[in-house]
Amino acid sequence: MLRRLLLVLSLVLPLAARAASAGSASVDERVRDLLAHMTIEEKAGQLAQFSSWGELTGPAANTPLGPRIEKGEIGSLLNVTGAAASRKWQELAVTSSRFHIPLLLGYDVIHGFRTVFPIPLASAASWDLDRIEHAEHIAAAEAASTGLNWTFAPMVDIARDPRWGRVAEGAGEDPFLGSAVARARVRGFQGSDLAAPDTILACVKHFAGYGAVQAGRDYFTTDITERVLRDVYLPPFHAAIEAGAGSIMAAFNDLDGTPASANALLLDRILRREWGFKGFVVSDWGTVRELMIHGYATDLKDAATKAFRAGLDMDMQADALGKYVPELVRAGVIPESRLDAAAGAILAAKFRLGLFDDPYRYSDEAREKATLLTPAHLDAARDLARRSCVLLKNNGVLPLAATVKSIALVGPLADNPRMQLGAWHAQGRAEEAVTLRAALEKQFPGAVHFAAGCDVRGDDTSGFAAARAAAQASDLVIAALGEADDQSGESSSRTSLDFTGPQLALLRELHAAGKPIVLLVMAGRPLSLEQAGELADAILVPWHPGTMAGPAIVDVLTGAYNPSGHLPISWPHSVGQVPIFYAHKNSGRPEPQNKNDRFYSHYLDAANTPQYSFGYGLSYTTFAFDDLRLDTNVLKTAGTPLKITVRVANTGQRDGEEVVQLYVRDLVGSVTRPVRELKGFQKIPLAAGESRDVTFSLTPADLAFWRADMTFGAEPGDFEVFVGDNSDAELAAKFKLE
Ligand code: BGC
Repeated sequence: MLRRLLLVLSLVLPLAARAASAGSASVDERVRDLLAHMTIEEKAGQLAQFSSWGELTGPAANTPLGPRIEKGEIGSLLNVTGAAASRKWQELAVTSSRFHIPLLLGYDVIHGFRTVFPIPLASAASWDLDRIEHAEHIAAAEAASTGLNWTFAPMVDIARDPRWGRVAEGAGEDPFLGSAVARARVRGFQGSDLAAPDTILACVKHFAGYGAVQAGRDYFTTDITERVLRDVYLPPFHAAIEAGAGSIMAAFNDLDGTPASANALLLDRILRREWGFKGFVVSDWGTVRELMIHGYATDLKDAATKAFRAGLDMDMQADALGKYVPELVRAGVIPESRLDAAAGAILAAKFRLGLFDDPYRYSDEAREKATLLTPAHLDAARDLARRSCVLLKNNGVLPLAATVKSIALVGPLADNPRMQLGAWHAQGRAEEAVTLRAALEKQFPGAVHFAAGCDVRGDDTSGFAAARAAAQASDLVIAALGEADDQSGESSSRTSLDFTGPQLALLRELHAAGKPIVLLVMAGRPLSLEQAGELADAILVPWHPGTMAGPAIVDVLTGAYNPSGHLPISWPHSVGQVPIFYAHKNSGRPEPQNKNDRFYSHYLDAANTPQYSFGYGLSYTTFAFDDLRLDTNVLKTAGTPLKITVRVANTGQRDGEEVVQLYVRDLVGSVTRPVRELKGFQKIPLAAGESRDVTFSLTPADLAFWRADMTFGAEPGDFEVFVGDNSDAELAAKFKLE
């Protein structure tokens, strides 16, 4: 088939376009060559993307896809599933369009494909960059085996408001951790060779500021100063671009009055001119059309003009760029060079993916069968899921004693294979997911008394009696509470962080039975533990762990794996505290020394601090930090890096892993600076009784920020460093930057 195709290509293509399938020419040459032969309409066709099936997260485009692909009017499809289907679409594009241009086939591979890994917020809690990268590599290999060549991931939006449901999709609140995770995910998806059959193009999203939607309400507007945008929200995008992400998605929100999809500051000045981005920008679903609804464009043509001028290259689902760009170019409203740049970047991605050399390289039914859900993938999913668990409280009930005779397993998440997959679970299937009940019953045959007790929604308490009976008949209770897969993620914002439905009441019932309670929080966001936490003897947060939730949680409960996760987001006491994050400003009136003072920044009814701080997480062993040393107290602007060394000891009885975190405070600046900022971390294994030195190095570049004059750089002056295992770390030292 391939041979025949190449033969056909060589006969029908004009000489220059034939270079498109020649191995020796560079991607740039091949793109230029192809563009030179394409009509304006054909080039504009590359800018159009449609979903191959119905309505997903917005209105479906009412357009006949097949005939338009035949005419070369569509450059990309999303949501094509399966090797057979992807081959069919590629065949249509390649055999019928004039220059036989293959399609980009995109999909939301957010935390796994058929093997579902923990949600991104959870895997960020592992602080384990190698395993995160490995997970994305597996996700890419699975997706690629079905013919997909592009994922709409990683989602790198900084999120400091857990009311926003999409907090589940990112790496939490911090730009430093977020950047490190963003790089790892891009490396995982794209590998070192995009043309390899197990790598796909990454699309870093949502550019930008989407995580700051006001009041945590999805799709809502934002109000972010350019300084905060650059200091906080942009670094993970920049990191992903530097790691080679080939595409980027413009966000739904508007930013200082200009919707992201038509925002030249973002798409042109920052992305292309400052960062030198050479890939292409795709809109989010229908956002070019939404420019009209924002009140930013009078009609679809106006919307297309504004978005395209600003730097948007591909239009998901709005049918605006493909339709209007030809007449805008012909009328001289937009120069053809802009069209060449946009279409050229999209074509370049297709060349880099190897699609021109073999359009079916990703659509292979045999490889699909051999790749999806392999034992090795399931092992990796289990491993990352257990590493993503964060232990918040433990009065000694965990790990479970080997002698435990009977366990009451309760809660709506204990045996619900779909809910544990979380939001955006791609091609994950409930029937392939292993629940906690299944895994626990396997581990403790005959000892588990299961009763769901209630659902995550509604007010039906008829299951309480069975749950209470199970508790009474058991040595201890494991309560798996939280959120359904559709209670976080897109369009799933909440005004409350409480457990929904009768879950808290169920926990009270269980508490009344007087048995020790292990509370599992299986959710896409932090949920308020003010009341629930009091009722529990131990609190473990597995989040939404994915396909292998059951075995992973059992590994942690039994101590087969010693928990090592640390929070990538501050865990508030209550919703009234949000947005709450550790890297806040000091204000002119922080917590006073004099306790009688009442005119300072605080609430009358709640603490300023979260219930659990960013970076926090317990282990079954204990760690001690001491002997903090700086190799110099003066860091010179042009000198060698400052070395910061700390002694970390495992002071407990078990082997474990610790996340050693380095925070910095810039005491005085030309603008006020956060009270602390994460500047380094290392996750290290330490055997029981072992201790070791951990060294970080800091350069002036690490201390850079957007200064009063909006230049980027560090400012001389006094700094403090803090080292420990969470953002409240107390071990401190000082240095000067000169
Ligand atoms: C989401 C994107 C996603 C796209 C395609 C949108 O609604 O905001 O994150 O990639 O749909 O499914």
